[in-house]
Amino acid sequence: MKGTMCGLVKEEAAPGKFVYRTDLPIPQIGDDDVLIKIHCTAVCGTDLHIMDWDKWSQARIHPPMIPGHETAGDIVEVGKNVHDRKVGDRVSCETHIPCGTCWFCKNGLSHICRNVKLFGATEDGAFAEYAKIRADSTFLLDDDIAYETACLFEPMGAGVHGVESADVAGKTVLVSGCGPIGLTAVSACKTFGAKLVIACDLVDERLETAKEMGADVVFNSGKCDLVEEVKKLTDGVGVDAAIDITGAGPAINASLRSVRAAGKLVCVGLPTKNVEMDMANDLIYREVEVTGVSGRKIWETWTDFAKVMKGPYYKLDKVMGNRFALKDFEQAIAQIESGIPGKMILYP
Ligand SMILES: [Zn+2]
Ligand SMILES: [Zn+2]
Repeated sequence: MKGTMCGLVKEEAAPGKFVYRTDLPIPQIGDDDVLIKIHCTAVCGTDLHIMDWDKWSQARIHPPMIPGHETAGDIVEVGKNVHDRKVGDRVSCETHIPCGTCWFCKNGLSHICRNVKLFGATEDGAFAEYAKIRADSTFLLDDDIAYETACLFEPMGAGVHGVESADVAGKTVLVSGCGPIGLTAVSACKTFGAKLVIACDLVDERLETAKEMGADVVFNSGKCDLVEEVKKLTDGVGVDAAIDITGAGPAINASLRSVRAAGKLVCVGLPTKNVEMDMANDLIYREVEVTGVSGRKIWETWTDFAKVMKGPYYKLDKVMGNRFALKDFEQAIAQIESGIPGKMILYP
């Protein structure tokens, strides 16, 4: 497709706001790509990191580039090697674009591909009218999933992946951290048959929402001894699994000690510095298994999250934020920075 489009551009390798432009060339697709007419794209913490030009961005990003990756839209053009996507398909996109040839890709672990490319980071993304992406990095949307909802697959998928990793059916589970990803994890635990879901956070309002989204019991971990409370609920044993969404050292340690011996701690939240733990007493003597999850399993997490979204516990309005035109992105960013909760959605 020829012509120009509007979009946001990170123009320089330095801290600074994106620039809204209307003279960007529509991306030209390769033989394995599709061109997507973007319906809407959610703002992610990563976009703010790119704007602020943090260390993560400095190591990966080559301006000028178009950010934005939590997106949904319609395919308007397909490359000549693409046979399982067609014009008119409604899709969302997997940000982690695997190489398909490394050891991990060949062993069913493409989500941790060693040569991974990142849509909206190492590649141009979706804060624009159109975006191109490899066809096998698109996820077909069921008719009953709205574009706005579809933008949540990518960001909330990490929470669902954490729940998959904890293998929660029939188990007692602690979810630590009740922001949008933690709330999604709480709903996923209930959807996939956890026997008891305990949620904790430092903010009472978030705990109220966690109850609405399926938590059986909630604790403000700043106002109680979480480990003791969890033990009271589990015959003194501890939960079968804990899922940390916070990435905060003290919370991770409280979750670790809330897990029973031979239980599992799944770490989803990214710590910004090293976390200390008592490995001898909390881990080794108790044979606790600790694991991390990175992004989403492709495509297991996506199909599982679709089940969570359609299940009885998920409350979309609790994770959605406000909506803006793409050119008004600075208003969306101002709302995020002022602490207004929920995913902000931009429309080109
Ligand atoms: Zn994101
Ligand atoms: Zn690979």
